[in-house]
Amino acid sequence: MKGERSGRMKEALGRAAKAFLSALYPEGITCDVCGAELVADTRYTLCADCLKRMPFITGHRCLVCGVPIKDEADYCLRCQRTESAFSKNISPLRYDGDARKLVYSLKFGKKKYIAALLGAMMSDEYIRSGETCEVIVPVPMSEAEVRKRGFNQSVLLAEEVGRRLDMPVLPALVKQRDTTPQKELTGKERAENLKGCFSAAYTDHIKGRKILLVDDVFTTGATADECARTLLKAKVRSVTVLTAAVTVPAARVEPGEARTERNEN
Ligand SMILES: [Zn+2]
Ligand SMILES: [Zn+2]
Repeated sequence: MKGERSGRMKEALGRAAKAFLSALYPEGITCDVCGAELVADTRYTLCADCLKRMPFITGHRCLVCGVPIKDEADYCLRCQRTESAFSKNISPLRYDGDARKLVYSLKFGKKKYIAALLGAMMSDEYIRSGETCEVIVPVPMSEAEVRKRGFNQSVLLAEEVGRRLDMPVLPALVKQRDTTPQKELTGKERAENLKGCFSAAYTDHIKGRKILLVDDVFTTGATADECARTLLKAKVRSVTVLTAAVTVPAARVEPGEARTERNEN
């Protein structure tokens, strides 16, 4: 009996020592982009080279959609010409290069762990924005769409952000019908395609609240706009959008001709 107890004790001590050592020297943690082993404990699961290449948005940006703008204008062309139901979009990244690769492997490579990396970047950017939202709502997919993919990446991102910001996540939007994938449509068609496809749920819990709407990519803003309209109809106080990346429109793209803005939505 005594031997058994000391055996268990030894085992427990062994486990504790292992946990201690692996905290000092994390083993098997690799860069989410290139797969290189990470030697130091980093804020993001990226090696120094991939972190350097990551297309973070810095400096001057559109006050509404958050896209980087070169001149001193407050709004990009897209936002000068359209009125949005949401107050602003916050994104840490341009939808480009490795950021695009990461979103792609989350959605289509089913690498769900990437939601932790993108969610960390999104939380940091949200904190920098100084916004004071109260409830997180993920952009929903229809039941058939979830069945096809196996998960909704916006829900994964919302949960990660909620955990980090200690903010409740509520599925307060429901997508009632399937829609044509947005990437197959032009700007104008995108808005038409989504009209009336969302409905609000948990309305007692969101009424009068400042909502943080979470999605993976902000492209034309059509999805965010339709979601925000639906939430505002349910009497929320405001809707701020948080996405992992924002698409930078190609030069001189006219509204309604946003075909060149490729997005794998
Ligand atoms: Zn790397
Ligand atoms: Zn803009």
